[in-house]
Amino acid sequence: MSTSTATTTIVVGAGVVGAAIAYDLQKRDRNVTLIDRDAPGSGASFGNMASIAVTEFMPVARPSTWKQIPGWMMDPEGPIRVSPRYMPRLIPWFIRFLAASRPSAVRRLEAAGAALCERSLADTRVLMAEIGVEKQLSQTGCLSLYANEAEFQADRERIDMLDRFGFDYEVLDAAAIRTLEPEITDQITKAVLLPDNRTVADPNKIVERLVARFEGMGGIVRRADVTGFERGERIVGVRLGAEVLRADEVVLCAGAFTAWLSKMLSEPMPLETERGYHTQIMAPGIKMAHSIIWPAKAFMVSPTANGIRVGGTVEMAGLDAAPDYRRSKVTVRRAREALPNLKVEDFTEWMGHRPGFPDTIPVMSASAKTPGVFYATGHGHLGLTYAATCAHLMGDLITGGVPALDMSPYRIDRF
Ligand SMILES: Cc1cc2nc3c(=O)[nH]c(=O)nc-3n(C[C@H](O)[C@H](O)[C@H](O)COP(=O)(O)OP(=O)(O)OC[C@H]3O[C@@H](n4cnc5c(N)ncnc54)[C@H](O)[C@@H]3O)c2cc1C
Repeated sequence: MSTSTATTTIVVGAGVVGAAIAYDLQKRDRNVTLIDRDAPGSGASFGNMASIAVTEFMPVARPSTWKQIPGWMMDPEGPIRVSPRYMPRLIPWFIRFLAASRPSAVRRLEAAGAALCERSLADTRVLMAEIGVEKQLSQTGCLSLYANEAEFQADRERIDMLDRFGFDYEVLDAAAIRTLEPEITDQITKAVLLPDNRTVADPNKIVERLVARFEGMGGIVRRADVTGFERGERIVGVRLGAEVLRADEVVLCAGAFTAWLSKMLSEPMPLETERGYHTQIMAPGIKMAHSIIWPAKAFMVSPTANGIRVGGTVEMAGLDAAPDYRRSKVTVRRAREALPNLKVEDFTEWMGHRPGFPDTIPVMSASAKTPGVFYATGHGHLGLTYAATCAHLMGDLITGGVPALDMSPYRIDRF
């Protein structure tokens, strides 16, 4: 029989966010059980673009966004695709998305993203060293590519934002681009080097190692589907079918599925899946040191442990629709415009659910309804980037410490 008097905590969801939080809490002497219905790291965290993308905090909704909406509905190859069939269910989220595009909201949301990104590379480095995967982190940054001055000017808003928040970048001419990445087509005449946007060799390995270290410290991992909750004045435990697992605290990190759980706690949240695709090319026939993005073509290419990964774009089609791999083929086609020697023969395709709030900012918060419940979700396009920082902040929040940041922008009751 256990004689421990330590607080028992259940973390639901063993993606990169839940695994990092479980690890952090176990270090702080909580008795933590990490529950996932699948193998740890097999959700969105499995197949992301492997980028610690510290400059990519620009909220998706901008003042000019509404002009682009017809294109999103009509163009199946566009950077954002809204399934017409899913549109009716998306309307409440979309209304909030448009509200977040007001100039006054955008400035506030940029600051909330920047505050996390300012810490993320340093926090990620420390966490990766702690779990013994520091060699996974690349030493080189990301190149943002432009075919001409018009493309560069179209991305000016992002670059001005980097200036406002003091993020490093360097504008490169054609010769400098070719020196850094000889495989990039000479159609590209300008680039911005983002030196602090690093990649990890294998994002799934990070989750595996977090979970292994967590178990090594006495943490428990359970494979089970969380189907409900037991609560009185405060949370009492989670239901796993007929079984009730008791806990003093429950942290919900179930990625895009967290909304389903929060609803059962009478705390609905406007969380949607922003579906994304990757193509992992095992024998690409080229070598790259940097990741690349081409904003006008809306794709990213990352060098990874097992070849080159191509991905990007957003598809709003809900949690249940089958993957539409035409979207991966579009990004691969565009990647070959940037990298003409890229061979696409031996490859796999994958789709994952980015958990996205309409204002692009994650929820990292105590429940406003049920004492003992906490949420960490909605990290959108930056879950890997934010995971280490999020784990520290949540660890402080949950154990009664003082988080290093003002947590009010990330509250659940902001909606
Ligand atoms: C194509 C693509 C590219 C991306 N690129 C990047 C990038 O380069 N950099 C970056 O920072 N981010 C990137 N992201 C985003 C990032 O992958 C996500 O933000 C992050 O993985 C979310 O992590 P998570 O732990 O919240 O969710 P997930 O990894 O989805 O984990 C949630 C877990 O909860 C479990 N779960 C759900 N419901 C239940 C339940 N009822 N009971 C038990 N378990 C449950 C699931 O099985 C799952 O394992 C990308 C995403 C995609 C799709």
